[in-house]
Amino acid sequence: MTTPLLSRNGLLRSASAEPVEVAVVGAGQAGLSLSYELTEAGVDHIVLERGRVGQAWRDRWDSFCLVIPNWTVQLPGGRYQGPQPDGFMPRDDIVAHLDRYARSFRAPVHEGISVSRLGRGDDGSFLLDTPSGQIRAHRPRRGR
Ligand SMILES: Cc1cc2nc3c(=O)[nH]c(=O)nc-3n(C[C@H](O)[C@H](O)[C@H](O)COP(=O)(O)OP(=O)(O)OC[C@H]3O[C@@H](n4cnc5c(N)ncnc54)[C@H](O)[C@@H]3O)c2cc1C
Repeated sequence: MTTPLLSRNGLLRSASAEPVEVAVVGAGQAGLSLSYELTEAGVDHIVLERGRVGQAWRDRWDSFCLVIPNWTVQLPGGRYQGPQPDGFMPRDDIVAHLDRYARSFRAPVHEGISVSRLGRGDDGSFLLDTPSGQIRAHRPRRGR
């Protein structure tokens, strides 16, 4: 039986091959920050996002802006570097910042993929149910 596997370039493919090492659910700032650190550490992973990058911010109202100043935006490898550190980014700028951040390190985000269930396989792997099939995340033990 083949297991659906997501490739890094955003295309779905079917494969009976290896599971992914780490699957991150959600491409908000938590998921993207984790993806940044995993990328830095050289850990193969995917990020599954039911909407688009920064979806929670996209869903806010037109006039929304941060209630904390821009200088406090200090994502790992993605600090605010714009001209208004004491300003308050409006919604669309927040989304653009997150989009740029994700692209800056080529975060392996798969948009439009909703995880409906998280389970555990016999071998300790994580099983993620998505409309595109089940994804298995399993980080092999590394030698000491
Ligand atoms: C009205 C309001 C104003 C706020 N203002 C500020 C502010 O000024 N400054 C500040 O720092 N914080 C603010 N916050 C808080 C901030 O929005 C959250 O702390 C932040 O979004 C949390 O980031 P996160 O990545 O953990 O979650 P989220 O940003 O919620 O990201 C989670 C992501 O996971 C995706 N997802 C969820 N479930 C699934 C699933 N089953 N499968 C696939 N994808 C899934 C979602 O679509 C989403 O993109 C505010 C919050 C609210 C509600």
